[in-house]
Amino acid sequence: MPRRTDFSFAMRSFMKDEARDMADKTLRTASALAEAELISSDRIAQLQSIAAQYAIAISPAIVDLIDPSDQHDPIARQFVPDPAERVVSPHERADPIGDDAHSPVDGLVHRYADRVLLKLVYVCPVYCRFCFRREMVGPRGRRALSAEAIAAAYAYIRAHPEIWEVILTGGDPLVLSPRRLRAVARDLAAIEHVKVLRVHTRVPIASPARVTRDLVRALKVQGKAAYVVLHANHPRELTSEALAACARFIDAGIPMLSQTVLLRGVNDDAETLGKLMRRLVEGRIKPYYLHHADLAPGTAHLRTTIADGQALMRQLRGHHSGLCQPAYVLDIPGGSGKVPIGPQYLAAEPDESAGPVRYQIEDVSGVRHTYPPE
Ligand code: SF4
Repeated sequence: MPRRTDFSFAMRSFMKDEARDMADKTLRTASALAEAELISSDRIAQLQSIAAQYAIAISPAIVDLIDPSDQHDPIARQFVPDPAERVVSPHERADPIGDDAHSPVDGLVHRYADRVLLKLVYVCPVYCRFCFRREMVGPRGRRALSAEAIAAAYAYIRAHPEIWEVILTGGDPLVLSPRRLRAVARDLAAIEHVKVLRVHTRVPIASPARVTRDLVRALKVQGKAAYVVLHANHPRELTSEALAACARFIDAGIPMLSQTVLLRGVNDDAETLGKLMRRLVEGRIKPYYLHHADLAPGTAHLRTTIADGQALMRQLRGHHSGLCQPAYVLDIPGGSGKVPIGPQYLAAEPDESAGPVRYQIEDVSGVRHTYPPE
């Protein structure tokens, strides 16, 4: 039998830590944003009604990154509520990537055969205004998994030998104490066919001091590979403290990847995106995904078009090392999974002669070539 993991206790202990370390300094209300001069006081009432639906949390590390004098600050745009969130466009939906359609047991998403998502908690150190799980996370969101739900998730994973990788996501799993994370990592590692643990997190940026050596050690399990995937959207987020927190994982033998959400007014220009990718690589973090922003309710003002995303990817490819190239991906609404969405450099020529297939291939300067050459 796996050890039981009491997540209610875990959450209480997290809240205690937070209360001690930063909760009193994390901004959680429109009034607190006004006091910190991140919004003007005449916007409090308007933003309070948005906050009643979608939680606010801006940690001290993130507050420090915001320039309150800049109306278009790219960090503020990610975390300070906007009246535009009231506008829900016709295609937006509460569960844009269809987690629930692929959830055989509470907290577990089995969309692809060889891997599952395990959502232990639904709280984060910060709440992003574009979050694709914004209907699930936050104090009014879903509850952390109970001990029984965790046991059911383990039982499901144990009964499915095709599951090779478990991805801890949520919410942010690194809000849990090292003791709880260690218990989860060990319980999962005890399942023979699970070979890889992956953690998706914003903590090294939002709360870098939380990445202690104890927390890093908690994710290391004998005989299994652990990866940490950092959510980073703007080069300013990669402060020396954030990079030092990441280095603690990497130096301990836990490789890091990144995921970035393409956001209008935050990182939708070639210079910012290129700088972000370079900083990640300089910090030994391999850019993994550039997500086209999902159809979460009230987020249209932050989404770009796919054509814009493809044009940015072309510029990245043209000007930066292969190490700096993430895959530009879209999670197909409804739960059909994630696919790369270009840009395309290769097109097959119509096969008129039934001879060998020939291709038209475009180089990074836009020049077309025939392959194989004539
Ligand atoms: S950290 Fe991730 S899960 Fe949490 S609010 Fe941001 S995008 Fe959503």
